[in-house]
Amino acid sequence: MIIGSGAGGGFAALNLAASGQKVLLVERGPDPYDPRPDSSGRPFKHVIDQERYLHNGSPRKLFMGHGVGGSTSIYGAVLLRPRREDFEPGRHLGRWLESEDGEWPVTYDEMLPYFERVEDHFGMAPFNPGDVGSGGLESLAPVNRRLVQRWRDQGYNPGILPLAINRSTCIRCADCPGYVCPTEARGSTRQAIIQQSRTMDNFSLWTGCEVQSIDRHRPVITVKKAGQKDLVEVRADRVILSAGAINSAALLLRSGFGDDYPMLGRCFMYHAGAVVFGLFRQRTNGGHSFIKQLGLEEFYFGTRDFPHKLGIVQSLPTPRAATTAIRNHLYLMMATVEDLPRPENRVEIGRDGRKKVFHQFHSYDMERSFHCKKILTRLMRDAGAIRAFAASARMNKTHVGHQVGTARFGTSPRTSVLDRWCRPHGMEHLHVLDGSFLPTSMGASPALTIMANALRVTDHIIQN
Ligand SMILES: Cc1cc2nc3c(=O)[nH]c(=O)nc-3n(C[C@H](O)[C@H](O)[C@H](O)COP(=O)(O)OP(=O)(O)OC[C@H]3O[C@@H](n4cnc5c(N)ncnc54)[C@H](O)[C@@H]3O)c2cc1C
Repeated sequence: MIIGSGAGGGFAALNLAASGQKVLLVERGPDPYDPRPDSSGRPFKHVIDQERYLHNGSPRKLFMGHGVGGSTSIYGAVLLRPRREDFEPGRHLGRWLESEDGEWPVTYDEMLPYFERVEDHFGMAPFNPGDVGSGGLESLAPVNRRLVQRWRDQGYNPGILPLAINRSTCIRCADCPGYVCPTEARGSTRQAIIQQSRTMDNFSLWTGCEVQSIDRHRPVITVKKAGQKDLVEVRADRVILSAGAINSAALLLRSGFGDDYPMLGRCFMYHAGAVVFGLFRQRTNGGHSFIKQLGLEEFYFGTRDFPHKLGIVQSLPTPRAATTAIRNHLYLMMATVEDLPRPENRVEIGRDGRKKVFHQFHSYDMERSFHCKKILTRLMRDAGAIRAFAASARMNKTHVGHQVGTARFGTSPRTSVLDRWCRPHGMEHLHVLDGSFLPTSMGASPALTIMANALRVTDHIIQN
Protein backbone atom coordinates (compact mmCIF):
# COMPACT_ATOMS: atom_id res chain seq x y z
CA MET A 1 0.00 0.00 0.00
CA ILE A 2 1.41 3.39 -1.02
CA ILE A 3 0.29 6.77 0.30
CA GLY A 4 0.82 9.68 -2.13
CA SER A 5 1.46 9.53 -5.87
CA GLY A 6 4.19 12.16 -6.36
CA ALA A 7 7.87 11.69 -7.19
CA GLY A 8 8.58 9.06 -4.51
CA GLY A 9 5.19 7.31 -4.33
CA GLY A 10 4.81 7.26 -8.11
CA PHE A 11 8.13 5.55 -8.80
CA ALA A 12 7.63 3.15 -5.87
CA ALA A 13 4.24 2.16 -7.29
CA LEU A 14 5.57 1.67 -10.81
CA ASN A 15 8.47 -0.50 -9.72
CA LEU A 16 6.46 -2.69 -7.34
CA ALA A 17 3.57 -3.16 -9.76
CA ALA A 18 5.93 -3.99 -12.63
CA SER A 19 7.50 -6.73 -10.46
CA GLY A 20 4.07 -8.35 -10.07
CA GLN A 21 3.36 -7.20 -6.50
CA LYS A 22 -0.17 -6.16 -5.63
CA VAL A 23 -0.23 -2.37 -5.19
CA LEU A 24 -2.86 -0.02 -3.81
CA LEU A 25 -1.99 3.65 -4.33
CA VAL A 26 -3.96 6.05 -2.12
CA GLU A 27 -3.96 9.72 -3.19
CA ARG A 28 -5.89 12.50 -1.49
CA GLY A 29 -6.19 14.71 -4.60
CA PRO A 30 -7.95 14.19 -7.94
CA ASP A 31 -6.54 13.18 -11.29
CA PRO A 32 -5.29 16.58 -12.56
CA TYR A 33 -6.64 15.82 -16.01
CA ASP A 34 -10.18 15.99 -14.71
CA PRO A 35 -11.51 18.32 -17.42
CA ARG A 36 -13.70 20.42 -15.08
CA PRO A 37 -12.15 23.89 -14.61
CA ASP A 38 -12.11 25.30 -11.08
CA SER A 39 -13.83 28.54 -9.99
CA SER A 40 -10.98 30.68 -11.40
CA GLY A 41 -11.97 29.44 -14.84
CA ARG A 42 -8.44 28.23 -15.47
CA PRO A 43 -8.32 24.54 -16.22
CA PHE A 44 -6.48 22.32 -13.75
CA LYS A 45 -5.60 25.08 -11.27
CA HIS A 46 -7.17 23.05 -8.47
CA VAL A 47 -4.26 20.63 -8.33
CA ILE A 48 -2.44 23.06 -6.01
CA ASP A 49 -2.95 22.13 -2.35
CA GLN A 50 -5.77 24.31 -0.94
CA GLU A 51 -5.19 23.47 2.73
CA ARG A 52 -4.16 26.30 5.08
CA TYR A 53 -1.12 25.41 7.16
CA LEU A 54 0.01 27.48 10.12
CA HIS A 55 3.25 28.77 8.65
CA ASN A 56 5.38 30.61 11.23
CA GLY A 57 2.11 31.31 13.04
CA SER A 58 0.06 32.60 10.06
CA PRO A 59 -2.47 30.51 8.13
CA ARG A 60 -1.17 30.11 4.59
CA LYS A 61 -1.62 27.96 1.52
CA LEU A 62 1.70 26.33 0.62
CA PHE A 63 2.64 25.91 -3.01
CA MET A 64 2.70 22.17 -3.62
CA GLY A 65 1.03 19.55 -5.77
CA HIS A 66 -2.23 17.85 -4.86
CA GLY A 67 -3.48 15.05 -7.07
CA VAL A 68 -2.19 12.16 -9.13
CA GLY A 69 1.48 12.87 -9.83
CA GLY A 70 1.75 15.09 -6.73
CA SER A 71 4.10 18.00 -7.27
CA THR A 72 5.44 16.35 -10.45
CA SER A 73 2.15 17.32 -12.12
CA ILE A 74 3.10 20.98 -11.74
CA TYR A 75 6.89 20.93 -11.38
CA GLY A 76 9.53 22.37 -13.70
CA ALA A 77 10.78 18.91 -14.78
CA VAL A 78 14.46 19.82 -14.33
CA LEU A 79 15.85 16.46 -13.23
CA LEU A 80 19.34 17.18 -11.95
CA ARG A 81 21.72 14.66 -10.50
CA PRO A 82 23.22 15.93 -7.27
CA ARG A 83 27.01 16.17 -7.14
CA ARG A 84 29.03 13.37 -5.55
CA GLU A 85 30.05 15.87 -2.84
CA ASP A 86 26.39 16.37 -1.87
CA PHE A 87 26.53 12.91 -0.30
CA GLU A 88 29.32 14.10 2.03
CA PRO A 89 27.87 17.35 3.38
CA GLY A 90 30.53 17.57 6.08
CA ARG A 91 33.12 18.42 3.41
CA HIS A 92 31.52 21.77 2.67
CA LEU A 93 29.17 22.47 5.55
CA GLY A 94 31.15 20.70 8.30
CA ARG A 95 31.68 23.81 10.37
CA TRP A 96 27.92 24.25 10.59
CA LEU A 97 26.94 20.62 11.21
CA GLU A 98 27.29 18.53 14.34
CA SER A 99 29.12 15.20 13.99
CA GLU A 100 26.97 12.51 12.29
CA ASP A 101 24.48 15.27 11.51
CA GLY A 102 23.33 15.01 7.91
CA GLU A 103 25.51 11.98 7.23
CA TRP A 104 24.24 10.00 4.22
CA PRO A 105 23.96 6.22 4.75
CA VAL A 106 24.26 5.55 0.99
CA THR A 107 26.95 6.57 -1.46
CA TYR A 108 26.68 8.38 -4.77
CA ASP A 109 27.80 5.20 -6.54
CA GLU A 110 24.96 3.22 -5.00
CA MET A 111 22.48 5.78 -6.31
CA LEU A 112 24.01 6.19 -9.78
CA PRO A 113 22.24 3.23 -11.50
CA TYR A 114 18.92 4.55 -10.19
CA PHE A 115 19.56 8.07 -11.51
CA GLU A 116 20.18 6.42 -14.87
CA ARG A 117 16.96 4.40 -14.69
CA VAL A 118 14.85 7.49 -14.02
CA GLU A 119 16.60 9.36 -16.85
CA ASP A 120 15.90 6.41 -19.18
CA HIS A 121 12.26 6.41 -18.09
CA PHE A 122 11.93 10.04 -19.22
CA GLY A 123 14.25 9.63 -22.24
CA MET A 124 16.74 12.28 -21.14
CA ALA A 125 20.45 12.80 -20.57
CA PRO A 126 22.13 14.22 -17.44
CA PHE A 127 23.37 17.82 -17.26
CA ASN A 128 26.71 18.30 -18.93
CA PRO A 129 28.25 21.77 -18.53
CA GLY A 130 29.00 23.38 -21.89
CA ASP A 131 26.80 20.92 -23.81
CA VAL A 132 23.77 22.51 -25.46
CA GLY A 133 22.31 19.24 -26.70
CA SER A 134 22.47 17.13 -29.81
CA GLY A 135 20.61 19.75 -31.89
CA GLY A 136 23.30 22.35 -31.10
CA LEU A 137 22.63 26.05 -30.60
CA GLU A 138 19.91 25.99 -33.28
CA SER A 139 17.68 23.86 -31.06
CA LEU A 140 17.61 26.57 -28.35
CA ALA A 141 15.16 29.48 -28.15
CA PRO A 142 16.72 32.54 -29.90
CA VAL A 143 17.32 34.36 -26.59
CA ASN A 144 19.23 31.35 -25.27
CA ARG A 145 21.41 31.18 -28.38
CA ARG A 146 22.40 34.80 -27.75
CA LEU A 147 23.02 34.18 -24.04
CA VAL A 148 25.11 31.06 -24.62
CA GLN A 149 27.30 32.95 -27.07
CA ARG A 150 27.74 35.94 -24.77
CA TRP A 151 28.40 33.83 -21.69
CA ARG A 152 30.88 31.65 -23.55
CA ASP A 153 32.72 34.80 -24.67
CA GLN A 154 33.00 35.81 -20.99
CA GLY A 155 34.38 32.40 -20.00
CA TYR A 156 31.22 30.82 -18.53
CA ASN A 157 30.13 27.31 -19.38
CA PRO A 158 26.32 27.19 -19.84
CA GLY A 159 24.64 23.92 -20.74
CA ILE A 160 21.15 22.75 -21.60
CA LEU A 161 19.07 21.79 -18.56
CA PRO A 162 18.10 18.12 -18.23
CA LEU A 163 14.36 18.48 -18.79
CA ALA A 164 11.91 15.60 -18.59
CA ILE A 165 10.00 17.16 -21.46
CA ASN A 166 9.07 15.44 -24.69
CA ARG A 167 10.13 17.93 -27.34
CA SER A 168 7.92 16.49 -30.04
CA THR A 169 4.69 17.09 -28.08
CA CYS A 170 5.77 20.22 -26.14
CA ILE A 171 3.96 23.33 -27.38
CA ARG A 172 6.62 25.58 -25.78
CA CYS A 173 4.18 27.65 -23.74
CA ALA A 174 5.49 30.37 -21.46
CA ASP A 175 3.77 29.04 -18.29
CA CYS A 176 5.34 25.73 -17.55
CA PRO A 177 5.82 25.05 -13.84
CA GLY A 178 2.81 25.69 -11.65
CA TYR A 179 0.30 24.37 -14.19
CA VAL A 180 -0.60 20.96 -15.46
CA CYS A 181 0.96 20.48 -18.88
CA PRO A 182 -1.84 20.72 -21.50
CA THR A 183 -0.24 18.12 -23.78
CA GLU A 184 1.40 15.99 -21.08
CA ALA A 185 4.74 16.60 -22.81
CA ARG A 186 6.17 17.38 -19.38
CA GLY A 187 6.96 14.03 -17.80
CA SER A 188 5.38 13.40 -14.40
CA THR A 189 4.63 10.25 -12.44
CA ARG A 190 0.96 10.74 -13.34
CA GLN A 191 1.14 9.33 -16.88
CA ALA A 192 2.53 5.92 -15.92
CA ILE A 193 0.29 5.67 -12.82
CA ILE A 194 -2.86 6.25 -14.85
CA GLN A 195 -1.70 3.83 -17.53
CA GLN A 196 -0.90 1.10 -15.01
CA SER A 197 -4.15 1.58 -13.13
CA ARG A 198 -6.01 1.02 -16.40
CA THR A 199 -4.00 -1.90 -17.68
CA MET A 200 -2.63 -3.89 -14.74
CA ASP A 201 -4.83 -6.15 -12.64
CA ASN A 202 -2.43 -5.94 -9.68
CA PHE A 203 -2.56 -2.12 -9.50
CA SER A 204 -5.37 -0.08 -7.94
CA LEU A 205 -5.55 3.69 -7.61
CA TRP A 206 -7.81 5.43 -5.13
CA THR A 207 -8.13 9.19 -5.65
CA GLY A 208 -9.88 11.65 -3.33
CA CYS A 209 -8.80 9.50 -0.37
CA GLU A 210 -6.90 11.17 2.45
CA VAL A 211 -4.99 8.94 4.84
CA GLN A 212 -5.72 10.05 8.41
CA SER A 213 -3.46 7.77 10.43
CA ILE A 214 -0.93 4.95 10.26
CA ASP A 215 -0.84 2.23 12.90
CA ARG A 216 2.48 2.22 14.74
CA HIS A 217 2.61 -1.56 15.16
CA ARG A 218 0.91 -3.03 12.09
CA PRO A 219 0.67 -2.13 8.36
CA VAL A 220 -2.80 -0.67 8.78
CA ILE A 221 -4.02 2.79 7.78
CA THR A 222 -7.27 4.71 8.14
CA VAL A 223 -8.56 6.55 5.11
CA LYS A 224 -11.19 9.25 4.65
CA LYS A 225 -12.84 9.00 1.25
CA ALA A 226 -14.10 12.29 -0.21
CA GLY A 227 -17.81 12.77 0.41
CA GLN A 228 -18.00 9.96 3.01
CA LYS A 229 -18.28 10.43 6.75
CA ASP A 230 -16.89 7.15 8.00
CA LEU A 231 -13.23 6.25 7.99
CA VAL A 232 -12.14 3.08 6.19
CA GLU A 233 -9.45 0.83 7.66
CA VAL A 234 -7.09 -0.73 5.13
CA ARG A 235 -4.54 -3.48 5.83
CA ALA A 236 -1.57 -4.54 3.71
CA ASP A 237 1.76 -6.38 4.01
CA ARG A 238 3.65 -3.12 4.00
CA VAL A 239 3.00 0.63 3.99
CA ILE A 240 4.99 3.04 1.83
CA LEU A 241 4.44 6.61 2.90
CA SER A 242 5.14 9.28 0.29
CA ALA A 243 2.87 12.22 1.06
CA GLY A 244 5.59 14.90 0.70
CA ALA A 245 8.00 16.08 3.41
CA ILE A 246 5.45 18.26 5.22
CA ASN A 247 2.46 15.93 5.04
CA SER A 248 4.36 12.69 5.74
CA ALA A 249 5.87 14.17 8.89
CA ALA A 250 2.44 15.52 9.91
CA LEU A 251 0.80 12.15 9.35
CA LEU A 252 3.44 10.27 11.35
CA LEU A 253 3.31 12.81 14.17
CA ARG A 254 -0.47 12.65 14.26
CA SER A 255 -0.20 8.85 14.41
CA GLY A 256 2.01 9.03 17.51
CA PHE A 257 5.43 8.21 15.98
CA GLY A 258 6.95 11.33 17.55
CA ASP A 259 7.36 9.59 20.92
CA ASP A 260 9.84 7.08 19.48
CA TYR A 261 11.51 9.33 16.91
CA PRO A 262 12.53 12.68 18.40
CA MET A 263 13.95 13.95 15.07
CA LEU A 264 10.63 13.41 13.28
CA GLY A 265 9.38 16.64 11.68
CA ARG A 266 12.73 18.37 12.26
CA CYS A 267 15.35 19.69 9.83
CA PHE A 268 12.74 20.85 7.32
CA MET A 269 14.58 22.39 4.33
CA TYR A 270 13.56 23.81 0.95
CA HIS A 271 16.61 25.62 -0.48
CA ALA A 272 17.67 29.17 0.17
CA GLY A 273 17.30 30.34 -3.40
CA ALA A 274 17.98 33.65 -5.08
CA VAL A 275 16.28 34.96 -8.21
CA VAL A 276 17.34 37.71 -10.59
CA PHE A 277 15.12 39.33 -13.24
CA GLY A 278 17.09 40.70 -16.18
CA LEU A 279 15.43 43.31 -18.41
CA PHE A 280 16.72 43.26 -21.99
CA ARG A 281 16.32 45.77 -24.81
CA GLN A 282 16.13 42.91 -27.31
CA ARG A 283 13.10 40.60 -27.07
CA THR A 284 13.46 37.47 -24.96
CA ASN A 285 9.94 36.28 -25.88
CA GLY A 286 9.47 35.19 -22.27
CA GLY A 287 5.76 36.03 -22.49
CA HIS A 288 5.15 33.88 -25.52
CA SER A 289 7.44 30.91 -25.44
CA PHE A 290 9.36 28.44 -23.31
CA ILE A 291 12.79 29.89 -22.58
CA LYS A 292 13.77 27.94 -19.46
CA GLN A 293 16.58 25.97 -21.03
CA LEU A 294 19.97 26.90 -19.57
CA GLY A 295 21.94 26.02 -16.46
CA LEU A 296 25.43 26.72 -15.07
CA GLU A 297 27.30 24.57 -12.61
CA GLU A 298 30.48 26.58 -12.09
CA PHE A 299 29.24 28.29 -8.92
CA TYR A 300 28.21 25.02 -7.23
CA PHE A 301 31.04 25.24 -4.70
CA GLY A 302 31.23 29.02 -4.63
CA THR A 303 33.62 31.40 -6.30
CA ARG A 304 37.28 32.28 -5.78
CA ASP A 305 36.40 35.25 -3.58
CA PHE A 306 33.51 33.38 -1.86
CA PRO A 307 34.48 29.67 -1.45
CA HIS A 308 31.20 28.47 0.08
CA LYS A 309 28.81 25.86 -1.23
CA LEU A 310 25.99 27.36 -3.28
CA GLY A 311 24.41 25.05 -5.88
CA ILE A 312 23.18 24.95 -9.44
CA VAL A 313 22.14 28.09 -11.34
CA GLN A 314 19.37 27.81 -13.92
CA SER A 315 16.97 29.84 -16.01
CA LEU A 316 13.27 30.16 -15.09
CA PRO A 317 10.07 31.05 -16.92
CA THR A 318 8.94 34.67 -16.64
CA PRO A 319 6.24 35.41 -14.02
CA ARG A 320 2.56 35.53 -15.01
CA ALA A 321 2.10 38.57 -12.79
CA ALA A 322 3.92 40.78 -15.35
CA THR A 323 2.26 41.89 -18.60
CA THR A 324 3.15 40.00 -21.77
CA ALA A 325 4.89 43.10 -23.12
CA ILE A 326 7.25 43.15 -20.13
CA ARG A 327 7.65 39.38 -20.05
CA ASN A 328 8.82 39.52 -23.65
CA HIS A 329 11.86 41.50 -22.50
CA LEU A 330 12.54 39.61 -19.25
CA TYR A 331 14.87 36.74 -18.49
CA LEU A 332 15.00 35.05 -15.07
CA MET A 333 17.78 33.11 -13.40
CA MET A 334 17.57 31.21 -10.13
CA ALA A 335 20.19 29.74 -7.79
CA THR A 336 19.43 26.65 -5.73
CA VAL A 337 21.38 27.30 -2.54
CA GLU A 338 21.79 24.29 -0.25
CA ASP A 339 20.25 25.33 3.09
CA LEU A 340 21.43 24.03 6.45
CA PRO A 341 19.49 21.29 8.26
CA ARG A 342 18.27 23.01 11.44
CA PRO A 343 16.28 21.00 14.03
CA GLU A 344 14.32 24.14 14.94
CA ASN A 345 12.89 24.27 11.39
CA ARG A 346 10.09 21.80 11.79
CA VAL A 347 6.62 20.42 11.17
CA GLU A 348 4.36 20.01 14.20
CA ILE A 349 0.78 19.13 14.98
CA GLY A 350 -1.02 21.68 17.13
CA ARG A 351 -3.33 20.73 20.00
CA ASP A 352 -6.24 21.48 17.68
CA GLY A 353 -4.81 18.97 15.17
CA ARG A 354 -3.67 21.71 12.79
CA LYS A 355 -0.44 21.27 10.78
CA LYS A 356 2.18 23.81 11.78
CA VAL A 357 5.35 24.63 9.87
CA PHE A 358 8.19 26.69 11.39
CA HIS A 359 11.01 27.85 9.20
CA GLN A 360 13.77 30.42 9.40
CA PHE A 361 16.85 30.41 7.21
CA HIS A 362 20.19 30.42 9.05
CA SER A 363 22.29 33.57 8.65
CA TYR A 364 24.82 31.45 6.73
CA ASP A 365 22.03 30.47 4.25
CA MET A 366 21.13 34.14 3.83
CA GLU A 367 24.77 35.10 3.35
CA ARG A 368 25.12 32.57 0.54
CA SER A 369 21.75 33.53 -0.97
CA PHE A 370 22.91 37.15 -0.93
CA HIS A 371 26.15 36.20 -2.69
CA CYS A 372 24.13 34.34 -5.33
CA LYS A 373 22.16 37.49 -6.03
CA LYS A 374 25.46 39.19 -6.84
CA ILE A 375 26.53 36.31 -9.12
CA LEU A 376 23.19 36.24 -10.93
CA THR A 377 23.14 40.02 -11.33
CA ARG A 378 26.61 39.89 -12.86
CA LEU A 379 25.52 37.07 -15.19
CA MET A 380 22.57 39.14 -16.38
CA ARG A 381 24.72 42.21 -16.96
CA ASP A 382 27.32 40.12 -18.80
CA ALA A 383 24.48 38.79 -20.96
CA GLY A 384 23.54 42.35 -21.93
CA ALA A 385 20.64 43.13 -19.54
CA ILE A 386 19.96 46.86 -19.22
CA ARG A 387 18.61 46.34 -15.67
CA ALA A 388 18.78 43.46 -13.20
CA PHE A 389 16.55 43.11 -10.12
CA ALA A 390 17.39 40.58 -7.42
CA ALA A 391 15.21 38.79 -4.84
CA SER A 392 16.45 36.48 -2.11
CA ALA A 393 15.15 33.43 -0.30
CA ARG A 394 13.36 35.46 2.33
CA MET A 395 10.89 36.84 -0.22
CA ASN A 396 8.57 33.89 -0.82
CA LYS A 397 8.28 31.53 2.10
CA THR A 398 5.21 29.70 0.85
CA HIS A 399 6.99 28.30 -2.22
CA VAL A 400 8.00 25.09 -0.48
CA GLY A 401 8.32 23.12 -3.74
CA HIS A 402 11.73 21.71 -2.76
CA GLN A 403 10.56 20.58 0.71
CA VAL A 404 12.77 17.82 2.15
CA GLY A 405 14.31 16.51 5.35
CA THR A 406 11.61 15.97 7.97
CA ALA A 407 12.32 12.25 8.46
CA ARG A 408 15.99 12.12 7.45
CA PHE A 409 17.70 8.79 6.91
CA GLY A 410 20.99 7.97 8.60
CA THR A 411 22.89 5.44 10.61
CA SER A 412 22.20 6.81 14.08
CA PRO A 413 18.68 6.85 15.64
CA ARG A 414 19.91 9.84 17.63
CA THR A 415 20.30 12.09 14.59
CA SER A 416 17.94 10.44 12.09
CA VAL A 417 14.49 8.87 11.81
CA LEU A 418 14.94 6.34 8.99
CA ASP A 419 17.51 3.63 8.26
CA ARG A 420 19.22 3.16 4.88
CA TRP A 421 16.09 1.45 3.48
CA CYS A 422 14.01 4.40 4.63
CA ARG A 423 12.25 2.46 7.42
CA PRO A 424 11.85 4.14 10.80
CA HIS A 425 14.75 2.67 12.84
CA GLY A 426 13.75 -0.74 14.22
CA MET A 427 10.60 -1.05 12.09
CA GLU A 428 10.00 -3.52 9.24
CA HIS A 429 6.62 -2.75 7.70
CA LEU A 430 6.87 0.99 6.95
CA HIS A 431 9.03 2.92 4.47
CA VAL A 432 9.04 6.69 3.88
CA LEU A 433 9.94 7.43 0.26
CA ASP A 434 9.14 11.09 -0.41
CA GLY A 435 11.57 13.97 0.06
CA SER A 436 11.45 13.55 3.86
CA PHE A 437 14.33 11.08 3.79
CA LEU A 438 16.95 13.57 2.61
CA PRO A 439 19.40 14.45 5.41
CA THR A 440 20.66 17.53 3.57
CA SER A 441 19.07 19.48 0.74
CA MET A 442 21.93 19.21 -1.82
CA GLY A 443 22.87 21.89 -4.32
CA ALA A 444 20.38 20.62 -6.91
CA SER A 445 16.61 20.33 -7.12
CA PRO A 446 15.41 17.14 -5.42
CA ALA A 447 12.96 15.29 -7.72
CA LEU A 448 15.48 13.03 -9.49
CA THR A 449 17.02 11.94 -6.18
CA ILE A 450 13.58 11.24 -4.66
CA MET A 451 12.56 9.17 -7.71
CA ALA A 452 15.88 7.28 -7.81
CA ASN A 453 15.72 6.52 -4.10
CA ALA A 454 12.19 5.12 -4.49
CA LEU A 455 13.54 2.72 -7.13
CA ARG A 456 16.51 1.78 -4.91
CA VAL A 457 14.34 0.94 -1.90
CA THR A 458 11.60 -0.83 -3.84
CA ASP A 459 14.24 -2.94 -5.63
CA HIS A 460 15.39 -4.00 -2.16
CA ILE A 461 11.79 -4.83 -1.18
CA ILE A 462 11.31 -6.86 -4.38
CA GLN A 463 14.59 -8.77 -3.90
CA ASN A 464 13.80 -9.59 -0.29
C1 LIG B 1 6.01 24.55 -8.91
C2 LIG B 1 7.05 23.53 -8.58
C3 LIG B 1 8.15 23.38 -9.44
C4 LIG B 1 9.13 22.42 -9.15
N1 LIG B 1 10.14 22.23 -10.06
C5 LIG B 1 11.04 21.25 -9.83
C6 LIG B 1 12.05 20.97 -10.80
O1 LIG B 1 12.10 21.55 -11.87
N2 LIG B 1 12.96 20.00 -10.50
C7 LIG B 1 12.91 19.29 -9.32
O2 LIG B 1 13.77 18.43 -9.10
N3 LIG B 1 11.96 19.53 -8.42
C8 LIG B 1 11.02 20.46 -8.65
N4 LIG B 1 10.01 20.66 -7.75
C9 LIG B 1 9.99 19.83 -6.56
C10 LIG B 1 9.47 18.42 -6.86
O3 LIG B 1 8.26 18.48 -7.57
C11 LIG B 1 9.31 17.71 -5.53
O4 LIG B 1 10.60 17.66 -4.93
C12 LIG B 1 8.81 16.28 -5.65
O5 LIG B 1 7.64 16.17 -6.43
C13 LIG B 1 8.54 15.78 -4.24
O6 LIG B 1 8.14 14.45 -4.31
P1 LIG B 1 7.43 13.78 -3.06
O7 LIG B 1 7.20 12.37 -3.41
O8 LIG B 1 8.23 14.12 -1.86
O9 LIG B 1 6.04 14.57 -2.87
P2 LIG B 1 4.95 15.06 -3.89
O10 LIG B 1 5.39 14.91 -5.30
O11 LIG B 1 4.51 16.42 -3.48
O12 LIG B 1 3.74 14.05 -3.65
C14 LIG B 1 3.05 13.97 -2.44
C15 LIG B 1 1.66 13.41 -2.74
O13 LIG B 1 1.07 12.96 -1.54
C16 LIG B 1 -0.30 13.34 -1.54
N5 LIG B 1 -0.75 13.37 -0.13
C17 LIG B 1 -0.39 14.25 0.84
N6 LIG B 1 -0.98 13.94 2.01
C18 LIG B 1 -1.71 12.82 1.78
C19 LIG B 1 -2.55 12.02 2.61
N7 LIG B 1 -2.72 12.28 3.90
N8 LIG B 1 -3.19 10.97 2.04
C20 LIG B 1 -3.02 10.67 0.72
N9 LIG B 1 -2.23 11.40 -0.10
C21 LIG B 1 -1.57 12.46 0.42
C22 LIG B 1 -0.29 14.70 -2.21
O14 LIG B 1 -1.57 15.05 -2.69
C23 LIG B 1 0.73 14.47 -3.33
O15 LIG B 1 0.12 13.95 -4.48
C24 LIG B 1 9.01 21.61 -7.99
C25 LIG B 1 7.91 21.75 -7.15
C26 LIG B 1 6.94 22.69 -7.42
C27 LIG B 1 5.75 22.82 -6.50
